[in-house]
Amino acid sequence: MDVAIERAVGNLDRLWSYRAGPEGPEDWIGHRVEVPLGHGTATGLVIRQRAMPDDLAADPKIRPVLAVLDQEPTLTPQLTELAVWMSERYLAFIGQTVRAMVPPGVRRGVRGTEVRPSRWQAGEVAPGLRAVRQRALWEWLRQHGPSTREEMLAAVSASPTVFAALRRQGMVVPVSEEQALPRTPPVELNAEQLSAVQRLSGGAGVWLLEGVTGSGKTEVYLERIEEMVAEGKQALVLVPEIALTPQTVARFRARFDSGVEVWHSGLSQGQRADTWRRVRRGSTPVVVGVRSAVFLPFPRLGLIVLDEEHETTYKQDEHPRYHAREVAEERARREGAQCILGSATPAVDSAWRARNGQIGWIRLAQRAMQRPLPHVTVVDMRAELHNGNREMFSGALMAAVTQTLAAGRQTILFLNRRGYATYIFCRDCGAPLSCPNCAVTLTYHQETGRLRCHYCFYETVPPRHCPTCQSSRIRYFGAGTERVVEAVARLWPEARVLRADRDTLTGRESHERMWRAFSRREADILVGTQMIAKGMDWPMVTLVGILAADVSLNFPDFRSGERTFQLLVQASGRAGRGQTPGEVVIQTYNPEHYAIARAVEADYQGFYDEELGYRETAGYPPFRNLWLLEVRSRDEDQARRMAQETADLVRSQVDDSVAVLGPAPAPIAKVRELFRFHILLKSAVRSPQLDRLGVALKGRAGVRVTIDPYFML
Ligand code: ADP
Ligand code: ZN
Ligand code: ZN
Repeated sequence: MDVAIERAVGNLDRLWSYRAGPEGPEDWIGHRVEVPLGHGTATGLVIRQRAMPDDLAADPKIRPVLAVLDQEPTLTPQLTELAVWMSERYLAFIGQTVRAMVPPGVRRGVRGTEVRPSRWQAGEVAPGLRAVRQRALWEWLRQHGPSTREEMLAAVSASPTVFAALRRQGMVVPVSEEQALPRTPPVELNAEQLSAVQRLSGGAGVWLLEGVTGSGKTEVYLERIEEMVAEGKQALVLVPEIALTPQTVARFRARFDSGVEVWHSGLSQGQRADTWRRVRRGSTPVVVGVRSAVFLPFPRLGLIVLDEEHETTYKQDEHPRYHAREVAEERARREGAQCILGSATPAVDSAWRARNGQIGWIRLAQRAMQRPLPHVTVVDMRAELHNGNREMFSGALMAAVTQTLAAGRQTILFLNRRGYATYIFCRDCGAPLSCPNCAVTLTYHQETGRLRCHYCFYETVPPRHCPTCQSSRIRYFGAGTERVVEAVARLWPEARVLRADRDTLTGRESHERMWRAFSRREADILVGTQMIAKGMDWPMVTLVGILAADVSLNFPDFRSGERTFQLLVQASGRAGRGQTPGEVVIQTYNPEHYAIARAVEADYQGFYDEELGYRETAGYPPFRNLWLLEVRSRDEDQARRMAQETADLVRSQVDDSVAVLGPAPAPIAKVRELFRFHILLKSAVRSPQLDRLGVALKGRAGVRVTIDPYFML
């Protein structure tokens, strides 16, 4: 059999052959095993099983497996094959890929605190359930939903042994108290939603569900999931951000009393291990989770939904550097499941595939219940400055906030920068204060009174004198969210303000608290970064103000236009989701830029057309595949030399179908004391020569290869 060793070491990066031990399962695939390796032992996972040719079978160098570490196979056969695919696709070590698929709690056999439930629900259909009383009890439970043991036994006058028998077969399964919420009936779908569901009911395949914000995409997912669950299949809903799970989960739990589980990094290892095991047993019909949930071992996967599919949090930035969308699609294809990508502002690549017929394409053009899209005003901040307004707020935004407060409604103010001042510099010599470890400026945080690096967490107190010229004329520049809160307190002293950014939201609980507090209207104004621009549904919010639309536009990244458009439309989409129409004010120094102009109109197609033209001319995805090679060293000269050697190696291995750019210093030339150089590869297809190059680069010290990079800085 072929075993992947669970260690991220280059020279172990292949499948190793072992023979079966004296004891073990008939089917070894997916089992975790202990095997001899060199003079020691190692743990690994069986990827494939094959009959050995006679010469191999007699080869004494092929050693037997020492022990089987799990009772049930840890991975399904589809997942073991997916691991092989992933390691090739992303140039990741196979052992590392397998490790990424099996949560630490499962590897270590940790258990959570599986609470003993008081309520039960019907499990899956068992064809062999012939015992009359067992069948009757199961039927009753299925019809009546979550019930206590006493209730159901009384209803069909059965004895506890009948219950126990069903329990043993997994025909009744526990419901936690949280899951036993009252069910909300489904909304009546509108014509667009109905036709979407109808087309999706056609079967497997990948679909883009492109629907304006508030068009009711989530209702479409819910309907499809219900159909899947009725067929006895399991559904996975991926969300981009831990912050979105409480809200999404509340909505899903209100609809399905049959058990919706969550999956994110805020859970303990034991909790995750428990959830993983329940999914593996097939007793969990619906999971809502973040990126890594795409590896959960569903035995009967019917549907994967990727909500807000354009979000970059779906790309993992460390090994294995996978994109959850791509893995979800591949997995759905291998397991005959359906995959729905949902967004109001799809990734340009997804939109392109949909428009070229490579994946299905469904559009929802109207907001549900005919609620209008919010009214958007653009303010040219150059004119404000010209007219002598030096506030962060334009006259239009100030008036709108005042009005919204007076009407007793809620406002969200976005600024995509946290802290108080984003850089401080000397007025006499002009030198900015930079991080000693990274080539970035330090951000001043008023709360702590310290300067902080957002890349390496270096902190220091602000100097009284310029370190370069000793001048005491030090100036704070570039406003962050802390400064917005301060301005709000000054301009509207009566308003209750809440701040939401990476400094205030440190874990899932703080997210949940923030979401609840604002939902309960414990604050009038929420000030936040892009973190809160996504997916949140607060019906009382009627005003959204975007203080500086340009922040994301000026990033040296080919996706900066796409991100700016998405951010603006998503942020605007938070306004007017309830009864009262919404209003949006966008402040910018660059109102003519197409990403901003099209966002104002919420014109996705218009944005897409312009963006696609730019991508084609400049040779970027979807027209070219990108590989980003990053070379790092503590020594700048060494980094440069290694980068040059790597570029030479690349150029010697590929023909002119692959464009090789660089090496050049990375846009952020130094992070955490490491100097960084980039080499960018562009090619129309992933040819065999690139595969060979990938193998050559994989184990090279000091070189990180990212296929389809999302973080170009
Ligand atoms: P999206 O996911 O596209 O942003 P949602 O599914 O969150 O949209 O729907 C927006 C709002 O409209 C929600 O409050 C939802 O309950 C409501 N809604 C959606 N579809 C309908 C419908 N057919 N009838 C009534 N309300 C609906
Ligand atoms: Zn100075
Ligand atoms: Zn730093």
